Amino acid sequence: MKRRTRKAVILVVCTMVLAALPVAGSLYYTHEQALDASQKHLDDVAARAALRVRTVLLTVEAALADSVFPARDGCNEALIRRFRDRTFSVPTVQGLGYVTDDGRLACTSYGIVDPPRPVRLEPTIRPDGSIVRFLPPAETAFAPGPTIIALHRLRDGNWLGAAFAPESLTNGFDPASLGEHGYIRVVLAGVPVATIGVPHPSAPDFLDARADVGVYQAEVLVGTGRAWALAPWRRNALVTAGVGAAAGLALAFGAAHLGRKRLSLSAELSEGLENREFEVWYQPIIDLQQDRCRGAEALIRWRHPERDLVPPDLFITLAEESGVIIPMTRWLMREVGRQMGPLLATDPSLHIGVNLAPAHVANLDIVEDARRIANEFGIRPHQILFELTERGLIDKPECREVIEALSRLGSELAIDDFGTGYSSLAYIEKFKLDYLKIDKVFVAAIGHDVPLAKLTQVVIDMAKSLGLKTIAEGVETEAQARYLRDQGVDYAQGYVFSRPLVADDFRVFVRSDRDFGLAGAVAQQHLADGAAPEVA
Ligand code: C2E
Ligand code: CA
Ligand code: CA
Repeated sequence: MKRRTRKAVILVVCTMVLAALPVAGSLYYTHEQALDASQKHLDDVAARAALRVRTVLLTVEAALADSVFPARDGCNEALIRRFRDRTFSVPTVQGLGYVTDDGRLACTSYGIVDPPRPVRLEPTIRPDGSIVRFLPPAETAFAPGPTIIALHRLRDGNWLGAAFAPESLTNGFDPASLGEHGYIRVVLAGVPVATIGVPHPSAPDFLDARADVGVYQAEVLVGTGRAWALAPWRRNALVTAGVGAAAGLALAFGAAHLGRKRLSLSAELSEGLENREFEVWYQPIIDLQQDRCRGAEALIRWRHPERDLVPPDLFITLAEESGVIIPMTRWLMREVGRQMGPLLATDPSLHIGVNLAPAHVANLDIVEDARRIANEFGIRPHQILFELTERGLIDKPECREVIEALSRLGSELAIDDFGTGYSSLAYIEKFKLDYLKIDKVFVAAIGHDVPLAKLTQVVIDMAKSLGLKTIAEGVETEAQARYLRDQGVDYAQGYVFSRPLVADDFRVFVRSDRDFGLAGAVAQQHLADGAAPEVA
């Protein structure tokens, strides 16, 4: 895949991801919220159902307790009357009966059972230690229909029983309110005795809740399927996704706009290179001690078809990021060779500075490029001065290899913008450079009573102690130029001498062999105490 196409694909994918993120985020958030709300609802239903179950069980227990006294003499009229009375007055209780200790129902609220009918005392629901135990719902002789029997053990070993409908435990609750698979189940000591609704047939219940009734080891289980829990979320998902999408689109649009701008600009850079839209300008470098032009720094310019001349600050970073800087510099060196080759050949003391981006120091291509161009245009390698910023000087084997190879070739190396990064001179010393370019911020400080001005002097002194030749950048006044010359700075470039020039103008500039009024008058009176001159 071509680099541009790949970048475009990456951009589109990133944009889509960016647009999808808020949608996914809001859907996820509301999804979790829906589950939370459903869980709370289930907990609430379970708690309310448990209260209902407790009321029913305690009511049944009370009806049994009320019959204990008349039951002390076994089945008789008084007991049957009490049974009738309690069955009538306690709606939950559907029938009461007397069960002998050998498990036969002897009388109920309907009267004497003759002959007594066997009542299964087993399987009973395991007693919780109280005198009451339960039989799971079944047809019994106590009352019509399947009922649960609560049995109260009398002191003499016989039993009182009360029948109640399993539905009484769940009355007032509607499983439909919990959706298709919603259900409520009452469990007595581990045995399910009442269930309403349809528990999910296959999948485990997605959401459930449990509440302890507090008596007779009874508990209530409530459950429902995922569909119900997420129904409100599904209903609102479209709106949620819409809001998320709107946010996402806004985000993606911004990012895509930025990205496209960069993408198109980097594509434009490559095209511009193919269409020969770039130019090399030359800013003269002056030998301060000899008062003569000793070369130039090659500075790239982009003659954009629709814009004015674009300065490098606006595209060098992008060229570095996109890798275009490599072919761009190769082109620049060839252009320098083509334009300045003859001039450099006639004057071996002239040199041209070429800026190298950090990317160049990572592979040896630049060395091969330099060798080929020097050969092709008859330039001596030492006439090319490579300018590297501190960013490019990485203490890595590749970097050292490239720098050493350039030195072996005979090219000279300068550290550019010195003082604007964080490298110490000692660090820089490791790389065996030839020149140190003093950044324009230091030059601008000359003549001003600012701490930076003192640092300027320190930088000059240290460069000298390391045996590096110095080039001051951004020299804008004669006073600065004189001060630098007096401090022993070797070279300078700046508007006071010349702005960057197109090739023809630079050649004229060199040939005019003009001087810049720097000869003589070293260490003027007002500099004698080390103070910097006033900047004009
Ligand atoms: P730099 O290497 O520090 O280049 C010096 C910059 O200072 C140039 O800006 C130059 O026009 C400007 N300058 C020269 N004299 C003065 C002065 O007296 N006062 C002030 N205020 N400025 C002065 P330019 O040409 O816009 O270049 C900007 C930067 O772009 C350069 O800074 C360099 O880092 C980069 N650059 C330029 N051409 C190339 C290139 O071919 N390759 C690479 N990798 N970078 C380049
Ligand atoms: Ca430079
Ligand atoms: Ca510089």
